[in-house]
Amino acid sequence: MDHRLLQQASFWEFLFAVDEDLAASACESGCSCGGHLHRAKFPRKPRGGPADLPPEYGYRLSFCCNREGCRKRVTPPSVRFLGRKVYLHAVSILVAAMQQGATPRRVQELSQRFEIDRRTLARWQVFWQEQFPRTAFWKVARGFLLPVVEAAALPLKLLQRFLHGHDSDPLQDWKRLLLFLSPITITGGLKG
Ligand SMILES: [Zn+2]
Repeated sequence: MDHRLLQQASFWEFLFAVDEDLAASACESGCSCGGHLHRAKFPRKPRGGPADLPPEYGYRLSFCCNREGCRKRVTPPSVRFLGRKVYLHAVSILVAAMQQGATPRRVQELSQRFEIDRRTLARWQVFWQEQFPRTAFWKVARGFLLPVVEAAALPLKLLQRFLHGHDSDPLQDWKRLLLFLSPITITGGLKG
């Protein structure tokens, strides 16, 4: 697990392109009422990214139905943002995993680097240990991961399952992991 990748603007450009693909398929599917979707992105101020985080990170891709009387907002899944949480999704997964797998000193170094305070770190542990395992998503999705990933080992074991190390392409590994988790990034995605 290499945190340096997450400090490169190219990593975030790559993930933005994935989000654009997700948005394009959502747009093609249209609204459930049959209406067309128009772009209606909304502003975000994500934390945890490098100083040269691409400007596209100032918003989340989203749509509005064009049909009078519907006007429903449709926000596609994302590999960048987790709902309204302020930290970039990959950063929160990586640092939460490091809390389980690294020395306290290393965790401190990383949280300084990504500007994450102690309370946020504690919240992420609660999220992964208590909230995430209870989601309808995880109850189904864990069945696709064999051998089983125990809830107590989240998110470290999940990250290790997707990030294979030196002989694989870490960008593609991150893409697979974040796409796997993307159903939880939409409204209601964390429901039990
Ligand atoms: Zn509609």
